[in-house]
Amino acid sequence: MSQFGTEFCDTFAIARYEDGQWRPAAIEPLAPLPMHPASHVLHYASTCFEGFKAYRWADGSARIFRLYDHVARMQKSAKSLRLPVPETDLLANMVIDLVRAHVDAIPAPPSSLYLRPTLIGTLPNIGAAASPSTEATLFVLASPVGDYFAGGVRPLKLLVEDRRSRSTEQLGSTKTGGNYAAALGPTLDAKAEFGVDQVLFCPNGDVQETGAANFLLLNDDEVITKPLDTSFLHGMTRASILTLAADQGYTVNERTFTVTELLDWVESYEAALSGTAATLTPVGTLVYEGRELPVRDAAAGPNVDRLRKALQAVQYGQADDSHGWLTKV
Ligand SMILES: *Cc1c(COP(=O)(O)O)cnc(C)c1O
Repeated sequence: MSQFGTEFCDTFAIARYEDGQWRPAAIEPLAPLPMHPASHVLHYASTCFEGFKAYRWADGSARIFRLYDHVARMQKSAKSLRLPVPETDLLANMVIDLVRAHVDAIPAPPSSLYLRPTLIGTLPNIGAAASPSTEATLFVLASPVGDYFAGGVRPLKLLVEDRRSRSTEQLGSTKTGGNYAAALGPTLDAKAEFGVDQVLFCPNGDVQETGAANFLLLNDDEVITKPLDTSFLHGMTRASILTLAADQGYTVNERTFTVTELLDWVESYEAALSGTAATLTPVGTLVYEGRELPVRDAAAGPNVDRLRKALQAVQYGQADDSHGWLTKV
C-alpha cells in the first residue's frame, strides 16, 4: 500500500453552509474544490479536521471506531474557531454513507480505511480577519491505509522541549491546522539537530504532548497521563486506552507532571505515544539538554504492547465492544 495519506477513494462526501443553514450533503467524485482566493480559511486559518478509522471485519461489513465521539470533537473544534457547527446527523451520515460506498475497498485488518472530515471557512472576505466565516464547506475524505507497524515496532526517540509551546491556551484542544503549523518548525529543527522522531512539548516544564499524539507512562500497575485541560488535544486513542487499562485492573492516574518527574520515572516506567494512526507506539529514548536518556532499557515494553493489542482486538472484532465504540456499516 502507498504511503499514509496519499491514496484516496474516488468519491468523497461534501456539504455547504450558506445563508445561515447547512445544505444537504452529497457523495461526489473526488475533485479539486472551486474556491475564491479571498476565502477566509486561506488568510485566517478557519479550519479544523478529524481523523479516525473504519475496519473491515471477516463478515464483509465495516465498523467505524468512535464515530460519534469524533463528530462531537469536531463540533467542539468548529465552535472554538467560530465556524458553523455541523449537526451531528449531518456529519455522521456523511461518514456512514461514504464508508458504505467503499466497504469493498477497505483492506483487511491491520489495514483500514482512514476517514478525514474537514471543515473550512469559505467566506470571500479578506476584511474578515476579526469576524467569523459565515460560509463554510464540510467534506470527508476516505483513504485506505496499511499497517503502521508493517516494518515492526520501533521505539521512538523524542526531544523533551521545555520552553517552546505546541499551541496556545485557546486552541490547544482544537484540532486545527494552525497548531500543526506552530509545531512544524520546532519539530523539523529537532529532527535535524538531534535525530529525533518527534518533540514532546513541555512548556515551563509541564509535560503535554507531541505535535500529533498524546503521551502516556505505564508500568504493570499504573497508567499516568496529563488530565484533560485546554492545553492539549483530547485524543480518542488516549481515552480508549485509559478505559481499557481500567478494565484490566490498572490504576489510571490522570495528573499533571513535570519534566523533572518524567526524567526520574522513565528509569522504571514505559512511555508511549497514542493516536489514531499508530494506536500506541513505544518511546525508547528521550533527549533532554543534549543528553540521551533511555526509557527503561530503551526497548518496547510489555504493557504498551498489551494495551495496544487490547485496543486492536476491539477494533478488529476479536474482543467484545463492551463500551459501544463501534458503528456498523
Ligand atoms: C489528532 C491528535 C491527537 C490524537 O488524537 P486521536 O483521537 O487519538 O487520534 C493527539 N494530538 C494532537 C495534537 C492531535 O491533533
